[in-house]
Amino acid sequence: MTTADKPMLEGARAYFEQAVGRLGLGDDMRQLLLHPWRELTVAVPVRRDDGSFSVFTGFRVQHNGARGPYKGGVRYHPRADLDHTRALAMLMSWKTALADIPFGGAKGGVVVDPQALSVAELNRLTRRYTSQIGHLIGVNRDIPAPDLGTNAQTMAWMMDAYGATHGYTPGIVTGKPVELGGSAGREAAPGRGAALIAAMAARDLRIDISGATVAIQGFGQVGSWAAKTINEAGARVIAVSDALGAIYNPNGVDVWETDRHYAVNGTVKGAPNAEPITNAELLALDCQILIPAAIEDVIHSGNASKVRARIIVEAANAPVTFEADQILNDRGVVIIPDILANAGGVIVSYFEWAQNIQEFRWDEQRVNQELTGFMTRSYKAVTDMMREQSTNHRTAAYSVAVARVERATKLRGFVTS
Ligand code: NAD
Repeated sequence: MTTADKPMLEGARAYFEQAVGRLGLGDDMRQLLLHPWRELTVAVPVRRDDGSFSVFTGFRVQHNGARGPYKGGVRYHPRADLDHTRALAMLMSWKTALADIPFGGAKGGVVVDPQALSVAELNRLTRRYTSQIGHLIGVNRDIPAPDLGTNAQTMAWMMDAYGATHGYTPGIVTGKPVELGGSAGREAAPGRGAALIAAMAARDLRIDISGATVAIQGFGQVGSWAAKTINEAGARVIAVSDALGAIYNPNGVDVWETDRHYAVNGTVKGAPNAEPITNAELLALDCQILIPAAIEDVIHSGNASKVRARIIVEAANAPVTFEADQILNDRGVVIIPDILANAGGVIVSYFEWAQNIQEFRWDEQRVNQELTGFMTRSYKAVTDMMREQSTNHRTAAYSVAVARVERATKLRGFVTS
């Protein structure tokens, strides 16, 4: 991003203000929803393998819990900070409301480069972080999940650390390994959901998904499953990337082969039958659908005018800055916002939590069928609101979500006027 772009928290608040203006929310409610309900900063001391000692900083921010227990991922990243965590927690409140699942919004993080720690160090760090935020979380209070830099193994350690004092509690986290009560289909869910939404948006723009050209930035959990699912729907994935670079083939990258290459080498670079390009070139490719699925702020005021895609599907959280959003809207580019596009992850997290509480397991077919139902209803709620308000996908999505959170917050009696 450039210095002309608002930092992520200001961008998230600006989108919220746009919706507030249309909904006519009172100022008391506006102020309440702008502020996180609760936030905690903790020290996370870790004994290193070489005997030395490091103290990391961790966060947990709970934005709004009127609609149900707080819900949100935990991010391990060297640039994690409190403002990012606040912005991401706020996005979670809107995402769970738009998906119409009974959760509020939260987010957590530790300022750490997970690549720089051994597996044993990451295990110790995760256990200490879990105990440090232990009094805030609970099956009916706040349920963490994986995000950037964390995965199913991290959730297994969190569940085990929490269980040491509370007994066997699989519903304390979602995104666990299936062997420990994780849900079938959870790993694929955010990417699968993004691909489903991309197909719905393409249909509305009369773009045939079969043969549509797609570029995907980020080939981690979300990007790789978005690539595989959209490819199965018949689209041609012409480029994919990761933090180390991108690959391109105008006739279509073999996404399954690239997936195997990524699993072995940790990068898409060098995957067969594709030429190397840069991440900047990927974002500017001539394609119909662009799916940023890596990190925030990658499309900003400095490069938005170079984007040639017809549709941007925000599989990552906040990949488009507020300023870039205005530029792209003016150019007629359709942007499917993160709170709609990547909600598949939290929707299947809800299925996982529900299965854990009922001590019952669903098969993958049922999970995917239910996921399709939730994503389809969310998309319809957004497009209905677009027509009602004559606005774009993002503002409509925020309007649906904020109205639901406002209603629950009012019913709870947090704001009486
Ligand atoms: P991940 O760590 O599995 O993968 C991230 C990918 O992005 C990796 O391939 C990495 O190399 C790449 N990347 C990192 N920096 C990059 C850069 N500067 N340029 C290009 N590529 C870069 O993470 P993930 O779980 O796939 O999450 C990706 C995004 O999706 C994040 O914004 C996350 O918040 C969001 N998200 C994740 C989930 C989930 O359940 N995992 C759910 C909803 C949203």
